[in-house]
Amino acid sequence: MSTSFSNQAESRRRFLHMGVTGAVVGLLTGGLELALPPEVRAQSTLTPDGALAELMAGNKRFVTGRMTSNEHDLAILKEKTIDKQEPFAALLSCADSRVPVELIFDQTIGHLFVTRIAGNFVTPEIIASLEYGVAVLGTEVILVMGHANCGAVKATIQGKEAAGQISALFPHIQPAVDQAGPNLEATTKANAKIQAALLRESSTVISGMVKQGKVKVVAGYYDIGTGSVTILD
Ligand SMILES: [Zn+2]
Repeated sequence: MSTSFSNQAESRRRFLHMGVTGAVVGLLTGGLELALPPEVRAQSTLTPDGALAELMAGNKRFVTGRMTSNEHDLAILKEKTIDKQEPFAALLSCADSRVPVELIFDQTIGHLFVTRIAGNFVTPEIIASLEYGVAVLGTEVILVMGHANCGAVKATIQGKEAAGQISALFPHIQPAVDQAGPNLEATTKANAKIQAALLRESSTVISGMVKQGKVKVVAGYYDIGTGSVTILD
């Protein structure tokens, strides 16, 4: 049983690896459309601005209590997304339990490609995941979202000793503290903007697609009291 499962997992890993490699090679040679097999090409037809508007419309439904995502038939959605996914937006959000991403944007199965890490900062693994989201799955927008009362940002501002490896988070958030600290909200917003810029600059795949107008990387701030998401300039 376990051998068969691990073989399946291995072949899935190989498939995913090949998919990403194909996309990256395609981008490097300027031929993304040709390099990708049809089944992994972008499916969503929204523009980057349209995808962002769709996200914000969902947040408005959440704030006003007029959510529609819970009306979808989850059984049908699960069935339709077994073999493919067509998320229109990707997110880099905090791991905080008060930031349930699909819920606050009123989205259901298959709509959002979500990476989460305490302090919503960029790492090589986060970049790899988001590159897969935009280059292979075709998401049109990436939203890097900080939130009110973020414990990771607060702990970085305080700079005290922390248990285990918790302090490994701090150096990633420190540039925002240097820029906007010690105010928590200002630092959290600065962090979202710094991480969005980092994503745009440090990923050749994403920066190339940004230049071509195929994807947009924006920073945002989630107010856990009102439920409202604000896009930061
Ligand atoms: Zn947080």
